[in-house]
Amino acid sequence: MGNKRDKTESDLTTHGLNPYKIVNDLLQESVEKLKLNNNIYEILRKPMRLLEVSLPVRMDNGEIQNFTGYRCQHIDILGPTKGGIRFHPDVSVDEVKALSIWMSLKSAILDLPLGGGKGGVIVDPAQLSERELEILSRTYIRKITPIIGPQKDIPAPDVNTTPEMMGWMIDEFDQLRGYNIPGMITGKPVIIGGSLGRLEATGRGVVLTIREAAEVLKMDLSKSTAAIQGFGNVGSMTAKFLDELGVKILSVTDAKGGIYKKEGLNIPELIDFVKEGNLASEFSEAESISNEDMFGLEVDILIPAAIENQINKDTAPNIKAKIVAEAANGPTTPEGDAILEEKEIFVIPDILCNAGGVTVSYFEWVQNSMNYYWSEKEINQKLEEHMVFGFESILKMRDEENCRMRQAAYMVGINHIVKALSARGWIKDSDLTSNE
Ligand code: GLU
Repeated sequence: MGNKRDKTESDLTTHGLNPYKIVNDLLQESVEKLKLNNNIYEILRKPMRLLEVSLPVRMDNGEIQNFTGYRCQHIDILGPTKGGIRFHPDVSVDEVKALSIWMSLKSAILDLPLGGGKGGVIVDPAQLSERELEILSRTYIRKITPIIGPQKDIPAPDVNTTPEMMGWMIDEFDQLRGYNIPGMITGKPVIIGGSLGRLEATGRGVVLTIREAAEVLKMDLSKSTAAIQGFGNVGSMTAKFLDELGVKILSVTDAKGGIYKKEGLNIPELIDFVKEGNLASEFSEAESISNEDMFGLEVDILIPAAIENQINKDTAPNIKAKIVAEAANGPTTPEGDAILEEKEIFVIPDILCNAGGVTVSYFEWVQNSMNYYWSEKEINQKLEEHMVFGFESILKMRDEENCRMRQAAYMVGINHIVKALSARGWIKDSDLTSNE
């Protein structure tokens, strides 16, 4: 029997950094820079609701294993809360809290009428059989049912969760409620109300922001190179769309290792190879490379598309890219960030870069409530409008305030939320001026 102690709030994630503390510091700094009162930070710094659930599952060997899950809702003044569910051994209370705040900011930046939410289960899904995974997914949804629903909080996929799992989850919810409620979850299979383009949406959005950044930097993408950390849904879709623009992808890594090819990897072949159930790092048409070495490659664009705290004081000094596109949530530590700034690297911050996923999730939810479905072309067009709007708002803020892109992103998001706080009477005019 292994050690069954679950992680608690005091546990720290990779590199000894706590994402909830990181997001809080950035919120406070941004409220100050916007010359708003500290009362605004006081409202935003804590999620409005957090639920912890126990998830007993009878495993295939007959034993019961009791997993721990969370659902966290940050603020719902712009609309119902929304955000994914991750299945990962490093899930913790502070991680879901931070992720829920990031979701609020993403929706605010892209002008979506939604608040931020996030869920997670402490588990390594690779260790579970399909039956165990299905039972765990269904049990999780049963346990969080009292606080979710299309008008309350709408989950979606995140790290290690898939459309198939969303299918099990909606089925469980519908069985409990006794009728079909397609808008309770997004990222589900298209046949049961999923949106066309949702699977590709995060990667498509990442590449749209890279396109915009390249324009600012006057870079010709068809002559550029890239490296990607992580080859899950987001990493592989980002690779696909970059490849279509003529960007040469020299390296890709995953949890088990990495691959490198000086002339550029054959991305369609690599995607097919991974679809067949293989790991990207096992692709034999390339040399192997470590995660650390990948960060130091001579490439124009570096894309962290895995988990938190990957660009840090150890990896950041070696980065040579002109653009860092944060496809993952929270991939850069404050120390890493300072190093990127010093090197004048153009950072596309996570709360903009990966917001294409929640944007098409929003479209899915809208289509579910109309019960009328748009073409993929229409969805991609609307996605592009939102991503470009978000990028331009942040760039304008960066130039006006003479700050870095991440800070500008927080400021744009906070400003938008503040308007709703004001309209609902949560704050007074005096809160719109700084404490000094
Ligand atoms: N998990 C994704 C994110 O972090 C998507 C959330 C959603 O579609 O609601 O943005």
